[in-house]
Amino acid sequence: MSQSCHDYRRLAARWRAVARAAGIRLETIAVADEFPIFCMKSPALPPTGGIYLSAGIHGDEPGATEGLVAWAEERQNELAELPVVIFPCLNPWGLTMNRRSDSNGHDLNRLFHHDQHPTIAAVRKIVQLRRFCASLMLHEDYDAEGVYLYEHCTTEPAGPHLLDAAESVIPRDPRSRIDGRRAKNGLLNPRFSPKVFEKIGHPEAIWLHLHGSARSITFETPSEFALEQRAAAHLAVINRLVQLCQ
Ligand SMILES: [Zn+2]
Repeated sequence: MSQSCHDYRRLAARWRAVARAAGIRLETIAVADEFPIFCMKSPALPPTGGIYLSAGIHGDEPGATEGLVAWAEERQNELAELPVVIFPCLNPWGLTMNRRSDSNGHDLNRLFHHDQHPTIAAVRKIVQLRRFCASLMLHEDYDAEGVYLYEHCTTEPAGPHLLDAAESVIPRDPRSRIDGRRAKNGLLNPRFSPKVFEKIGHPEAIWLHLHGSARSITFETPSEFALEQRAAAHLAVINRLVQLCQ
């Protein structure tokens, strides 16, 4: 699994199989670095509410793309009844090359404030003014010592429940500071600072938070753990979130 997790054609084939089984179209929403970018929107996604799921915006985080497709495979027979929009992999070039950035060296997770990148423009167009119950961005971190997450929310947080689900697979990151921010039991609730993001550009999670996602969550697994475990942690977190938003 360790090499094939960077094989985008294989990943795309798995998503096509899920789409067929679920009876949902796998839409190509953009082409970036000659790779198709996919989106799967369930017919059960309501105009307001529902769940946004995405993975692979950083190509060197394959536990996230593997976890998302494994979840979709597990739930394929009921996917058409679940209120989800799914972006299986936002940076296929990065996944293929095992790189964080795209081929131009851009971190796509800093470009959500404008439409200059074809992938981000396509995602923004699909989301528009849709106000999700929750948005979940799946990531991995080389420095992590366990699972952790960031959450921006305007309602009751989902984060503690998601970490409960994740720690059945991988323990929580015990550090009190993660990525320069205060963390408690794997939970980070950083204050939103417009000035910081004006300078560095908007991550996906911040853009979704600013566009009315009631909860915007970035979940991270530790890259040093086994791929199967990391994927299983992502899968557990998605399952719990779907449960919470129904
Ligand atoms: Zn990442």
